[in-house]
Amino acid sequence: PKQDLDAPFYTTCQEPPSPDDTSRPRANAAFVMLVRNKELDGALKSVASIERKFNRWFHYPIVFLNNEPWTEEFITVMSAAVSGEARFEVIPADEWTFPAWMDPEDARASIKSQGQWMIKFAGLETYHHMCRFYSGKFYTLSALQEYKWYWRIEPDVEFYCDITYDPFVEMEKRGKVYGFTIAVPEGPRTCPSLFRQMSDWKEAHKIKDTEMWKTMVSPSWVPWPFRSLLAWVWHRDRNGDPWSLCHYWSNFEIANLEFFRGRAYQNLFEYLDSTGGFYYERWGDAPVHSLAVGMLLDADKVHHFEDLGYRHDYWYQCPANAPDGQLIESTALNAPYDSEREGGIGCRCECDGSKNRNWPGYCLQKLKAPTVTKRPSLVGMPLTW
Ligand code: GDP
Ligand code: MN
Repeated sequence: PKQDLDAPFYTTCQEPPSPDDTSRPRANAAFVMLVRNKELDGALKSVASIERKFNRWFHYPIVFLNNEPWTEEFITVMSAAVSGEARFEVIPADEWTFPAWMDPEDARASIKSQGQWMIKFAGLETYHHMCRFYSGKFYTLSALQEYKWYWRIEPDVEFYCDITYDPFVEMEKRGKVYGFTIAVPEGPRTCPSLFRQMSDWKEAHKIKDTEMWKTMVSPSWVPWPFRSLLAWVWHRDRNGDPWSLCHYWSNFEIANLEFFRGRAYQNLFEYLDSTGGFYYERWGDAPVHSLAVGMLLDADKVHHFEDLGYRHDYWYQCPANAPDGQLIESTALNAPYDSEREGGIGCRCECDGSKNRNWPGYCLQKLKAPTVTKRPSLVGMPLTW
């Protein structure tokens, strides 16, 4: 029988380590949060949530990153909120700016006009710097060189289930490289030429199609009402094959830094950067990471943390302790939350599984499909894309 390549690491609550247990395996890992001083309240909520659901047992360090100097208040308040080490790092100015060859005034004019097109955040210069930073410079930051693994968090996110095992250690043990929770489609107007540039680089380096890549690139027989017309026109490679716009939502990531610091990814980033697309368009770091993962990794290196309850903005994943083995079906059918249920996926989840999860389901199924034996059917899934 075929093996499920990406089952949850554990389907029930584990015994978390006791504080004096120094013998348990630990990973060389840290949480990372890029944040502005004025986002202290939201950052505190996220830290309180991850501490309560996970880090009070595991005490991993949290590295806070900022492009500006930290305020006393941020450092004092946050230092009191963490159970491990808190580090407050300032990103070097030359790693949070336009590429050296680019004329800033030219770029600013483009950013201004993108703002008039009502593309989300595209009129904000800092947002472009943020996306460029998270796409490339983040990984080579000297403050992170000592770590092998990172878990990205953001202000105003929420974790709903107890995480009673160590995701870093489990990923290491199972040879995983990239872990995600939610998958969504990108707004087509943010990145008209991204997919083309990505696939050009892929061809130039003679990279063979992985299973992941094949599922990210939509087969052309999908009928047109189910795709964005703009994606149909713009997001194509040299052969005319379209990208579905589906990507892992990068506000949550648990991943191996060595992959992103490696030659292939860094060379890809340098190429993308040289095209100017982080400024002349509004390329997000999420589709950049996702297309790179899909291009360079085998499907069994990617892990869907379907047992974690997680929210960013209005979109969330709630495993709702779905019975073992039935998560795919229940994701589509919105199984009701049952806090009493034992032996399900997820541990002591405090979220309502009858509401929206993994919205829109299409992208989750698309990006998860190559790692599961049973391909989920499209019936019952929101046909939003
Ligand atoms: P969204 O998730 O795409 O809606 O964008 P966010 O506003 O949440 O930004 C993504 C992440 O980058 C969050 O962790 C923000 O705190 C952080 N961020 C965005 N812009 C800046 C900035 O100019 N400076 C700093 N220090 N952090 C930023
Ligand atoms: Mn955010």
